[in-house]
Amino acid sequence: MHNTFTDELPNTDGYFGEYGGSFIPPELEEIMTGISQAYDDITRDQAFLTELTSLYQHYVGRPSPIFHAQRLSEKFGSPIYLKREDLNHTGAHKINHCLGEALLAKKMGKTKLIAETGAGQHGVALATAAALLGMECDIYMGEVDMAKEHPNVVRMHILGARVVPVSHGRKTLKEAVDAAFEAYLGDPVNQFYAIGSVVGPHPFPRMVRDFQSIVGNEARSQMLEMTGQLPDHIVACVGGGSNAMGIFSAFLEDENVTLHGVEPAGRNLEVRGEHAATLTKGSPGVMHGFKSYMLQNDQGEPDEVYSVASGLDYPSVGPQHSYLKDLGRVHYHTINDREAIDAFFELSRVEGIIPAIESAHAIAYATQLARQGGSILVNLSGRGDTDIDFVAGQYGKDYGLPG
Ligand SMILES: *Cc1c(COP(=O)(O)O)cnc(C)c1O
Repeated sequence: MHNTFTDELPNTDGYFGEYGGSFIPPELEEIMTGISQAYDDITRDQAFLTELTSLYQHYVGRPSPIFHAQRLSEKFGSPIYLKREDLNHTGAHKINHCLGEALLAKKMGKTKLIAETGAGQHGVALATAAALLGMECDIYMGEVDMAKEHPNVVRMHILGARVVPVSHGRKTLKEAVDAAFEAYLGDPVNQFYAIGSVVGPHPFPRMVRDFQSIVGNEARSQMLEMTGQLPDHIVACVGGGSNAMGIFSAFLEDENVTLHGVEPAGRNLEVRGEHAATLTKGSPGVMHGFKSYMLQNDQGEPDEVYSVASGLDYPSVGPQHSYLKDLGRVHYHTINDREAIDAFFELSRVEGIIPAIESAHAIAYATQLARQGGSILVNLSGRGDTDIDFVAGQYGKDYGLPG
């Protein structure tokens, strides 16, 4: 079926309306054109698509089920369905694009995958894909994040990846991005920079969206099969925006399906640095090689950002989201830390599913929306097993956990 939003966007220069594009150093232009060309080729290469589909099925465990969360639905007044990306191998949607990117890199003759990671989720998913395909893997990570997310560092080591500590500046994600990018410039021929969301220069926003679109394509036919109709609403959390683009992509032309992206309001939506609600509070600008809404200071530099969900604290957002916001096709809302933690416990206790704190933002918004009526499909982007110690330590007392 033809889909204007995915078949015709981005244009050949990587633009979704005025957003996206490619703002990169001249020495990378040829490399990036090569990646774009190779990506175009594999989308028409039946052997590649068959191999990826087979990995999704037998390695990741796709299709992920859709679950009708009956007790949650009854409690909040509308039918709520969950697309269970939390059941994927490695526990989240990120494996969908990591496998796609790694397979592309391997076909291009690259030997090493590199990336930055904040909380370690993207690093673990990429290290997994590298191990599976027999590739080297360097993950750049700030020393502060390494201390905070120690279990993910251990996971990456066990998977055979090299975790490169970044010790300058604030020693977190921003510095890790700079360090990974610098390392990439050192050898863009043998290395492949596997971007972790629908962000970065063209062709990454398109490529990562396409790899994630399996989520929406599955969900569309699963909902039709289960309920005989499409959902009235679809809800997904938005950090860089890959899980949201993945599920939205199959429904963009269904005018009766209302799409909702949920951004983190953190501790305080009205204070700069206390949230990461890019589309809600940001303005158009250029960072990390592409144009999009971003949270920026007067000099156009990225603002500090914060969310209780470390996978959501990014000061920009995928360019297609900016386009869809301006168009009014997707509505963007915010959920703060407290509401997300409430939803984390709600889903755990009412359905026996412990969500990632990122995904809990989508659950929180869905429960608010449910009071207005209409069926709701939520993309449950990941499971919360790496979040439990943090949540128990910070919030356990408020939710009756034994000290
Ligand atoms: C990384 C992550 C996110 C945020 O990334 P998007 O690109 O916005 O999808 C959301 N949920 C989970 C579970 C994640 O690991």
